[in-house]
Amino acid sequence: MSYTYDPENIFAKILRGEIPNATVFESEHTLAFNDIAPAAPTHVLIIPKGPYVSYDHFSAEASDAEILDFTRAINEVCKITGVNMDVGNGFRAIANTGRDGVQDVPHFHLHIIGGRHMGRMVQKAD
Ligand code: AMP
Repeated sequence: MSYTYDPENIFAKILRGEIPNATVFESEHTLAFNDIAPAAPTHVLIIPKGPYVSYDHFSAEASDAEILDFTRAINEVCKITGVNMDVGNGFRAIANTGRDGVQDVPHFHLHIIGGRHMGRMVQKAD
């Protein structure tokens, strides 16, 4: 399987500093920032700094260091936003992928959404 990464996608431009973002957390391999159109009181996007299209691409080709860094960043974001289960009420993590997953931006991103009850996960098709 080969993945084609488009370096002109909007998150690549954020990573290059060409457009601004509201950073929540940053580490060596990972950036987290507020979604520009939040679906809930907390809506943060966590992205790897490397050029990965999707979660499956990232999990196949990212280095161990990148994967570890990304995974730890999830905890940092949940602590910073207060949705973690220690002090908050939880959250939903979503990785929309490809056409069926309705992914708009072709740079892997994990949505962390919370601050309200999220309802059922996915509606059944008719
Ligand atoms: P997805 O459908 O999973 O690809 O979601 C892409 C997300 O990126 C949407 O929730 C958008 O609101 C968000 N988004 C698009 N452009 C920006 C931006 N410049 N800064 C922050 N979030 C953005």
